[in-house]
Amino acid sequence: DQRLEMIDLKSIIRTVPDFPKPGIQYRDITTLLADPAALKAAVEQLAAPYRDTGVTAVAGIDARGFIFGTAVAIELGVGFIPVRKAGKLPFDTLEQDYALEYGTDTLQIHADAASEDDTVLLVDDLIATGGTAEAAISLLKRTGCNLVGAAFLVDLPDLGGADRVRSQDVPVKTLVAFE
Ligand code: IMP
Repeated sequence: DQRLEMIDLKSIIRTVPDFPKPGIQYRDITTLLADPAALKAAVEQLAAPYRDTGVTAVAGIDARGFIFGTAVAIELGVGFIPVRKAGKLPFDTLEQDYALEYGTDTLQIHADAASEDDTVLLVDDLIATGGTAEAAISLLKRTGCNLVGAAFLVDLPDLGGADRVRSQDVPVKTLVAFE
């Protein structure tokens, strides 16, 4: 849809200074979620490069990756895999720790969420340092699936996350960058 490509997604993302702490410019995607045309455009643009790539599932990262990931899965006509914060999934899980600015956190997926027969696309709202995406990628690779790429609405290129993921042989696509 040509009209949806004309929408300036960047201008619809709100920047909140000093959240969650002084000095951080928080990129708030709730303003994009609230705008029907922008939401549709974002989902279509995230899904478009993967239409003929044999994707069998989309994985999304807790919690905003669930919003965009599920929508992209519906666009592509495939199912959705939740990559969750620790302690939320009821069945057998795989888990991966990752570094935060202070301390660590843990992501999990169900051990049977994907297999060698799957081609998976990872989706999240935003990539900063890439630590979260890297943990999700490590979990997905342990299922034996083919990881076809990672797609993010927002890139913070100064923090180097997209390059970090690319250096692990996972192609990355992003729609909007805030320098
Ligand atoms: P990373 O692990 O440093 O790449 O951080 C990415 C994760 O933190 C994603 O799951 C984002 O949802 C979240 N995040 C980091 N900075 C922002 C921001 O400015 N706005 C919204 N989410 C953010």
